Amino acid sequence: MIVAKFGGTSVADAAAIRRTGEIVRGRLGRAPVIVVSALAGATNALLSAAELAASGQLVAALEHVSQLRDRHLATISELLGSGPEAHELRAETSLMFDELAHLAEALSVLGFATPRSMDAVASMGERLSAPICAAAFSQMGIPSVAVDSRQVMITNDDFGRAAPLPAQIAAASHAQLLPIIAAGKVPVVGGFVGATTSGITTTLGRGGSDYSAALFGAALNADAIEIWTDVDGMLTADPRVVPGAQLIEHLRFDEAAELASFGAKVLHPSTIAPAVERDIPVYVFNSMRPEAVGTRITFEAPPCTVRAIAGKRGVVVVRVGSPKMLGTPGALRSIFEAFDRYRISVDVVATSEVSVSLTVDDDPSLLKAVEDLRGFGEVAIERDRGIVALVGAGLGGSSPSMARALRAVGDERLHMVSLSSTGINLTLIVDDAQVHPVMRLLHHEFFGGASA
Ligand code: ASP
Ligand code: MG
Repeated sequence: MIVAKFGGTSVADAAAIRRTGEIVRGRLGRAPVIVVSALAGATNALLSAAELAASGQLVAALEHVSQLRDRHLATISELLGSGPEAHELRAETSLMFDELAHLAEALSVLGFATPRSMDAVASMGERLSAPICAAAFSQMGIPSVAVDSRQVMITNDDFGRAAPLPAQIAAASHAQLLPIIAAGKVPVVGGFVGATTSGITTTLGRGGSDYSAALFGAALNADAIEIWTDVDGMLTADPRVVPGAQLIEHLRFDEAAELASFGAKVLHPSTIAPAVERDIPVYVFNSMRPEAVGTRITFEAPPCTVRAIAGKRGVVVVRVGSPKMLGTPGALRSIFEAFDRYRISVDVVATSEVSVSLTVDDDPSLLKAVEDLRGFGEVAIERDRGIVALVGAGLGGSSPSMARALRAVGDERLHMVSLSSTGINLTLIVDDAQVHPVMRLLHHEFFGGASA
């Protein structure tokens, strides 16, 4: 069996849901479990409604609710027409919107929203979309059953970012999903949403549907997980920066993780970790172009020199130097602790015996951390820097790629260079304004195509 997850744009409206239904039809031979997001934009609209209500703007909040209601009801009519199924689903949907309107009223009376009440509201998007998709697929001749994700995605009560309880999820998925598959039907579950063991609604955090798919895939030991979105997959560079960026057909999980930390937004690898840890391959596909190859992410992948080039602007370099550090155990730890104290995450590090250079995002608390660091010696801050990273499992060891990359950047001013110990990431710190030109240069060197 496989788990196929369809993001908000893949279920945005009736046409998208039908397109998704055709993709599901093409997978019937593989016993698919379908995970769906809320209709595109619905979660944002729900959260704004909750915030408006809690800040006393009930009329505006109810306006959001009624727009969402109209949108969902219109989608149902377009998909199912006016038969008895359509009638029943419209009635169920209306009831959920009544519940939502009551929630909004309650929030406006209270004047504040707790994480728990925000989850009750945010969960509505997927609780609405799953029954609509299941009904639409059934109407298309694909017998499907909507499953309330709160019966299967069991979590702790960390509202807003609940942690899944894998053993409970496995037991519940086996009990609830497998019988549906055994009966020759397709289970359709909302992503993102779960419930505590006592049944209180939770969510996994924004964008959590990928995580749901990976968790169900791991729980059911799926043969594959498919993430259907609105781009072709992961690319060798951001196409807005490098016009000749190419699709990556296959990459390693750790490579994908490196790319994500540089803002590759296709999917966040930490969310698919439960699947990858079990050696379940994860595919990224475009639901607008189902025939395209997509990207495959696995624990191991065929070797390459450079898999992709990423960049990040607006980075700050902090340099701490002091002869006192020479032979002083624990100096590095204390330096990192200073950043940790203000929850500033450090990206790239280079050290010598008497100095440490590191990069951080420009953060309002940076100056506080720097104050603390003055205890160690000289601290210098360089703003207007950026990171260019070459990511690829072939960069380590005695690979000539590193020398090749350095030759390719020529006279470029490099403020730091770092090769990660696992050798999958060569990082160059350049002037902020040079991030994009250097990305294009390196992309040309390793992937060909235009250099500027
Ligand atoms: N609908 C949720 C969100 O927008 C979860 C998801 O789409 O993955 O955050
Ligand atoms: Mg999404």
